[in-house]
Amino acid sequence: METVTAKGGEERARQVMEALAEAGTQNPELADFYEFHQRIFQLQHEAKAQITATLEMLDQEVLRARVRQGLPQLSFAQLPLEAEGFSRLATEIAQTLAQYDPALAVETDGLEEVDWLSLAGRRFEQGMADESEEEAPEEAEMGLVETAVDLALQPYLEWAAEQVMPHVDQERWKRGCCPVCGGAPDFATLVEETGARHLMCSRCRSQWLYKRLQCPFCNNADHTKLLYYPSEDEVYRLYVCKACKHYLKALDLRKASHRVVLAAEPLLTVAMDLAAQEQGYKVGAF
Ligand SMILES: [Zn+2]
Ligand SMILES: [Zn+2]
Repeated sequence: METVTAKGGEERARQVMEALAEAGTQNPELADFYEFHQRIFQLQHEAKAQITATLEMLDQEVLRARVRQGLPQLSFAQLPLEAEGFSRLATEIAQTLAQYDPALAVETDGLEEVDWLSLAGRRFEQGMADESEEEAPEEAEMGLVETAVDLALQPYLEWAAEQVMPHVDQERWKRGCCPVCGGAPDFATLVEETGARHLMCSRCRSQWLYKRLQCPFCNNADHTKLLYYPSEDEVYRLYVCKACKHYLKALDLRKASHRVVLAAEPLLTVAMDLAAQEQGYKVGAF
């Protein structure tokens, strides 16, 4: 069983790396972007492959109750993070980021002193939807260490999510935030003839069922304020919400003829991010 999982992981990783390399070849102006993401993905993949811990799962009863209450399943304490290894990974990611983005290179002083584990804990909480808050909190500033720690957390979140997600009752969730980690979606897929829409978590890569015509970021369901722009071949859609000014990229799997590597899609569609941001829309967040 374990070997199969490990092999499956290797195969998926190879597909992602290939898709990113191919995208770099196809879009020479984005070659650096895809090269950077291949390096980051490689680091994340190695970190994930090295996890030997066992996830302490919640009791099934508790799990179901949390789904009913709209609470995500995962807590930061469940992640198998140990200070030394995690700090090494985050530092290496920060150095890689600085190499590719000169604007961030000025922030590399003092990287050794960063308390990566505490920062990871804060970022985990900050990225969660908090429905008790009336007003959205000020967006946290994304400097070098914040970006690095988010990327370093990802393999651990994915590892946990793969184990938790099969136990989540999709029909009972249907919320804008991730049922596993509470994070915001950054991608969606349209699957069946009915047009069921699944959202994909920007943090742990879980996918969950959501309503087709509602904004996951502000719950706006007013159809006059929700639009989407299809790509010329209708394979992709850019959803925008005029109420909260967030956007969401989507892939229509009914129309896609290319071999889809879903884990790479959020990066393969970077041109859509640029187009949306040019129009004044923001990456989805809570
Ligand atoms: Zn998640
Ligand atoms: Zn909205």
